[in-house]
Amino acid sequence: MKKVAIIGAGIVGATAAYYLSKEADLEITVFDHGQGQATKAAAGIISPWFSKRRNKAWYKMARLGADFYVDLLADLEKSGQEIDFYQRSGVFLLKKDESKLEELYELALQRREDSPLIGQLAIMDQASANEFFPGLQGFDRLLYASGGARVDGQLLVTCLLETSQVKLVKEKVSLTPLTSGYQIGEDVFDRVILAMGAWLGDVLEPLGYEVDVRPQKGQLRDYQIYQDLESYPVVMPEGEWDLIPFAGGKLSLGATHENDMGFDLTVDETLLQQMEDVALPHYPTLTEAKSSGERVGIRAYTSDFSPFFGQVPGLSGVYAASGLGSSGLTTGPIIGYHLAQLIQDKELTLDPVNYPIANYVKRVKSE
Ligand SMILES: Cc1cc2nc3c(=O)[nH]c(=O)nc-3n(C[C@H](O)[C@H](O)[C@H](O)COP(=O)(O)OP(=O)(O)OC[C@H]3O[C@@H](n4cnc5c(N)ncnc54)[C@H](O)[C@@H]3O)c2cc1C
Repeated sequence: MKKVAIIGAGIVGATAAYYLSKEADLEITVFDHGQGQATKAAAGIISPWFSKRRNKAWYKMARLGADFYVDLLADLEKSGQEIDFYQRSGVFLLKKDESKLEELYELALQRREDSPLIGQLAIMDQASANEFFPGLQGFDRLLYASGGARVDGQLLVTCLLETSQVKLVKEKVSLTPLTSGYQIGEDVFDRVILAMGAWLGDVLEPLGYEVDVRPQKGQLRDYQIYQDLESYPVVMPEGEWDLIPFAGGKLSLGATHENDMGFDLTVDETLLQQMEDVALPHYPTLTEAKSSGERVGIRAYTSDFSPFFGQVPGLSGVYAASGLGSSGLTTGPIIGYHLAQLIQDKELTLDPVNYPIANYVKRVKSE
């Protein structure tokens, strides 16, 4: 029986734990201290097809990541889990310059050839859009895609960990290489997955590594509205005020992208109010909504905004992923699955050569 440790139980670590827990010859322990976790603060939009990023490797990962949810949710459903934390209720894209909507529509049509999940596409006027999302205003036309989805990251992680029945230790830990294996806490492990998001450097820097991952603070506010929003599409405008409606009347508004705040987790009322002020003219119903709380999380970014995964150079049996940025709920499950496959030397869909960890994690001195 091989002992595997996973440090970090965000979307990446929890998905890896879920897939590894299916293997009878592995004993899995997950360590997570949970503070600042991006996954539980995330807005939850799964809709990567409209991005203008030129990074082809990223786009491949993101579109396959959106597709991967279909398999993951089917697996969870087979294990008897409710999967009501994920819904494909569509997405609305708003443009300040609405003449750009045709261009976006053409791009989406092309991308639908590889990603049928995008679903139906239409440029809609306000009256048609209001049949899906009553009360939304401040635009003449928008682009609709029926396959856009939303997920509650925290509920997904809870579901993955519960289904896995792995041992969960809620502690901040470090890693000590031994002659054979790795010490984490009181125990020694054969294999290790570092799924620590923005905190990857905390474990690797003391071992002589330079880690190109920087933190970005993100905040959003949740509201309670007295109508069921289950079938409402997600609204993605240009700017930060995405609206993410959930069943039961929860509506999230956000999120901020704050680059100079380090790992700060305090709620900034001023920024949240500014976001609300921008959103209000588009959705005046917000004035009647009750704020039900704020969420703050830390995203992980590399200097070229690319995510990476693979074996940590020079540490045999240790695998890591980070740099998922603002699309990590989309790419996290497929990355977690790949880490689980790597640990077992099994087949991969995404080639790690295109997401090279060695570009971001470098040994600069021996311990
Ligand atoms: C406000 C906000 C909105 C977002 N919205 C979206 C969105 O709409 N769509 C989308 O696709 N993505 C979104 N994202 C991005 C997405 O949430 C992240 O990219 C993704 O969740 C990262 O997952 P992760 O597992 O890599 O890291 P995290 O979720 O950050 O998990 C890392 C975990 O490791 C733990 N950890 C770290 N160090 C240690 C240690 N030494 N010991 C023990 N535990 C440790 C941390 O406490 C944490 O729980 C958003 C992010 C934020 C912050």
